Amino acid sequence: MPTLTRLPRPRDVLNEFGIYVHVPFCSHRCWYCDFNAYAGLDDQIAPYMDALERDAREAFSAPDGAELDQRPVVTSIFIGGGTPSLVPAPSIVCVVDALRDGWTIASDAEITIECNPESITAAKLDAYLAGGINRISFGVQSLDNALLERLGRIHDAATALEALRLAKRAGFDNVSADLIYGVPDETDDAWRRSLDGVLATGVDHLSCYALIYEEGTPLESFRKLGKVVPIPDDDVARRWDMTNEILGAGGFVRYEISNWTKPGRASKHNSLYWKCGEYLGIGAGAHSHLATRCGAVRSWTVKSPERYASRARPAGSEQIDVRTRASEVMLLGLRMTEGVSKDAFARLVGSSIEEVYPDELEAAVSRDLLAVDADAVTVRRPFLLNEAVLPFV
Ligand code: SF4
Repeated sequence: MPTLTRLPRPRDVLNEFGIYVHVPFCSHRCWYCDFNAYAGLDDQIAPYMDALERDAREAFSAPDGAELDQRPVVTSIFIGGGTPSLVPAPSIVCVVDALRDGWTIASDAEITIECNPESITAAKLDAYLAGGINRISFGVQSLDNALLERLGRIHDAATALEALRLAKRAGFDNVSADLIYGVPDETDDAWRRSLDGVLATGVDHLSCYALIYEEGTPLESFRKLGKVVPIPDDDVARRWDMTNEILGAGGFVRYEISNWTKPGRASKHNSLYWKCGEYLGIGAGAHSHLATRCGAVRSWTVKSPERYASRARPAGSEQIDVRTRASEVMLLGLRMTEGVSKDAFARLVGSSIEEVYPDELEAAVSRDLLAVDADAVTVRRPFLLNEAVLPFV
């Protein structure tokens, strides 16, 4: 492994820079959720949104004080949560306006907001569009009411479908939906109906995730108590195959292990993460990955919305060395269908992929886990992704 005193700046390699804005409020906690999200904190929304707005203008430091050496042009903004659609639309737009005041936003920047079906209205959608938000992503999860209940969601299928149609009618031409498969008691037919139903609304992008029983969630407790029984791995694998088949027939292509898109609608912001790009995170528990005057740094803020709003922001940071950079480029990049670009790897790490991982690549190719051609390294069998990336951890 080569040594470098200073790693190349991802923004110079990718010509992209993203900002993530975290809105941690929800009206109810879903059974499977392990995100930094809170229900019942409505009285904290106003001071928190004020703090976000301030940071949108001012924040450009890592917690250890290592500053960006310049403010790059912003190519994507992602307002996620939590449930951003729960807070008043004007306060979301104020944060976007503050970002425009503090940063240069590219004219073709992708600006996404995450919404839940039960908290969206035509007036909110109009306000988002007027504020320059041009992509909307809905947490639909399923179109089967019994399965939605099983996940602890508070919307029903009709509300989800109406929200997707409302977004299209309002004028969003980049609408995404999140779905979850592998829910206990889900059948092939139920999964097919969810995919078909969402496709019929004209969505442009779909994220489909296998249900994970995260430690500390109510769902995991139910599993331990025997109140829910996970469906067999083979069924989960078949649902992923079904997803490829149904979405492929609907004109979608898979570009990441869990993401499918119509042509030209792949998420710029999430692709930036998978390409190991730079981004600033604003809000409670938000992570940043920045090339600073002190080198490449990953940092994160306090998780508590209350502490965040009281300006107790920094929580921790770590310096990224060349070995970590190389590992991250592989682990994240192999999630994408296009794989890890050899050219981008060499420019991000400072050495060629063959120099850094000669034995690992040879072993993975001989086991038919990876394919290596002149331009890229790709995963041969997506369902063995975890095995394929193991040598690079
Ligand atoms: S709406 Fe999303 S963030 Fe909120 S509790 Fe449910 S899964 Fe978590």
